Amino acid sequence: MASSKLVVDYFSHLASQEFWKHAPVHTILPRDASGKPGSPYPAGQVPHVVSAINICRAMLTHRPVWKAFETLAVRYSQVRTHSWPKQGSSPLTVDQVTYIFLAKILTTFPIVFVDYGLENPDAKGFHTRRPWNGTFEPGYQQISINGKRTDHMSTAFGKASQTNNHHPFQAFLFMTANTLLHELGHVFVTYLTKGQSASPPQVNALTEGVQGGEGEAGLALESLIFGGTIAYFQEPVSGTPDDQCGTAFLKKPSGAWHRILPKTIHDVASMREYRFE
Ligand SMILES: [Zn+2]
Repeated sequence: MASSKLVVDYFSHLASQEFWKHAPVHTILPRDASGKPGSPYPAGQVPHVVSAINICRAMLTHRPVWKAFETLAVRYSQVRTHSWPKQGSSPLTVDQVTYIFLAKILTTFPIVFVDYGLENPDAKGFHTRRPWNGTFEPGYQQISINGKRTDHMSTAFGKASQTNNHHPFQAFLFMTANTLLHELGHVFVTYLTKGQSASPPQVNALTEGVQGGEGEAGLALESLIFGGTIAYFQEPVSGTPDDQCGTAFLKKPSGAWHRILPKTIHDVASMREYRFE
């Protein structure tokens, strides 16, 4: 696919445009087990969610991540059964839709619900798809992250200063940032389809060489970025305490599992210091 000047200029544009310099809009709300907005989310815990959002945003500025979104758009463009974003009456190109989406997400992140309705600790998050028309507004879209696991992240932060062991907290930051990134794969489908369609089967981590099945844009995005999908395991023998994150692994298309190194997790978690200015 030919790259337009728009794409070539992507990073210099991000670096120079005013929207990049303004404080991003974060909306973080609690949701109780019944699905209703709960009491105010503890102020002391909000910064950790903001950190995870900022790590996720920093990831979006990495070229391989951006190219992965573009590949998702290519796959969807080949099978699309619903609308495709337009400028006036002209359909946007794949690189244009990718650019516009990421620029919008970097400006305004979807609403993040710290959701206590997610009772399964393995349920890390989900995207609530909302149909849209006219202009795509990320702030109208929603991502939920697991409320109890978010509490565990805050607890781990408190313990880190007492024990001088930051890894348990960093593991949660890594997981939460990657959960948000995964869910942005689904938000991207919402953008491409105007919220009218789930991921088609062709948008799936297991698409290549596999026919049928359901699409999973989040896993597809993980595969494109990391070369596999991320999963977390508890120690089968010693047992991992319930309030710990578990050990992160990458599942490769070959079926092999690779442990994600603590240094990798540390490096990713350290991006919370990323300053968008
Ligand atoms: Zn998913």
